Amino acid sequence: MTDGAADPGAADAQAGGGADAAPSAVDADGALRLIDVEAAPPGTYGELEPAHPPLIDAQGRVRLSFSRIDTYQNCPRKFRYAYIDRLPGRPGPHLSFGSSIHGALEAFYDRKLPECPSEEDLLGFLYEAWDSTGFAELPREEQLSFYRHAQDVLRRFHQRAAPRYRLPADTEAWFELPVDFEATVVGSIDRVDVDEDGGLHVIDYKTNRKVKNRERVAKSLQLSIYALACRHLYGALPRTVSLDFVVPGVEVRVDVEDLDLEAARRAVLDTAAAVRAEHYEPTPNPLCDWCDFRALCPAWESTDGGPALGEAVDEARRLRRRLHHEVRALRELEDGVRRLAGELSDAESDGRPGAASGA
Ligand code: SF4
Repeated sequence: MTDGAADPGAADAQAGGGADAAPSAVDADGALRLIDVEAAPPGTYGELEPAHPPLIDAQGRVRLSFSRIDTYQNCPRKFRYAYIDRLPGRPGPHLSFGSSIHGALEAFYDRKLPECPSEEDLLGFLYEAWDSTGFAELPREEQLSFYRHAQDVLRRFHQRAAPRYRLPADTEAWFELPVDFEATVVGSIDRVDVDEDGGLHVIDYKTNRKVKNRERVAKSLQLSIYALACRHLYGALPRTVSLDFVVPGVEVRVDVEDLDLEAARRAVLDTAAAVRAEHYEPTPNPLCDWCDFRALCPAWESTDGGPALGEAVDEARRLRRRLHHEVRALRELEDGVRRLAGELSDAESDGRPGAASGA
């Protein structure tokens, strides 16, 4: 808790109680100070809905997903920055490229018509689904080259998919999988196919260039989680699970018997236990160079020897400034409404019509 928590009046001023009340973003001792929402009087910020479900839900289960578990296994400190502190990450071109391809393929299989959509349709779905956020800082020529690359990838996908096209059982199948009473794993399965005799097949699209061999696919924690989720959703394990590497155009499929479902369950429970115990040690690894939080990480120090303030802190300051302005605008509006309501009420008790309009 900040000082403001002990002094609701201070928090009120900090929240924008007057035009000259804008507080510094940094305390006297140099620490970043954020608006203390909890300490503000009820109603200051209106009815705030949490933007994210809590990490530990009302039943005490830790809410995980494959990418959360993967992040934790890679580096617990990164997990903390991303999912506890909720520091914003940078959307990169590869993330946006992946989400655009996923969006186009979801629309391709989601038409609920028995005929395969044409290649032109698929490219139209790409146009609709194109997520430009991660490309914003790139020159236009580079953005176009990503788009053309995505078109080529989907043309190749269409050549593979059209001859064996059939309506899937599900696309983007959302699941919330309880694991004992310790965790809930949430996520969505890209596609679930069903064959003539009712066997289910789970497919996940990958947009990285490198294809994994069958042995590595069988060890995929993500596919094991999806297999368990499939049983939770449809009452049966899938017959096969596969990673479809859409860039090189190769699908690697393995039988469900090749998966280690018990190891996946243990990975979920181990991560949940570590999160409960608040173990968030930084673990330097080869991916640190691409980590959004490296500037904040105690495992890395800035060249002058002190911990560096990163983009995340700048973003927090920006949000804080915006919130400050919005709260002030809200207050002014509320004052105006209160004034008008008072004038109306005075006019009614005097028997005068139209006092509120100044007539
Ligand atoms: S920079 Fe490396 S050690 Fe630090 S949080 Fe990121 S991944 Fe972890």
